[in-house]
Amino acid sequence: MAKKFHEPIRMCISCRQRDTQFNLTRLRCENGQLAPFEGIGRSFYLCKICLNEEKKLQKALMRYCRSGEKDKLMNKLKEIITDDR
Ligand SMILES: [Zn+2]
Repeated sequence: MAKKFHEPIRMCISCRQRDTQFNLTRLRCENGQLAPFEGIGRSFYLCKICLNEEKKLQKALMRYCRSGEKDKLMNKLKEIITDDR
């Protein structure tokens, strides 16, 4: 088996599983609202499995962004990940 390059390993904030950065969605939080990561500031990661687990994801986002507005967070998340594809 060929040895992989040193890919950075990051942790999903929802399930705390570690994966390579490539397999995770990188986001950031700004004033309690989600934003796409643009190369600066503090960011966090979500794995593909958690992106499909809405309930669990809402909790993680509210906790991380310190916001109670879960609908606002989820709508923004959908907007960001749709833009990405
Ligand atoms: Zn996860």
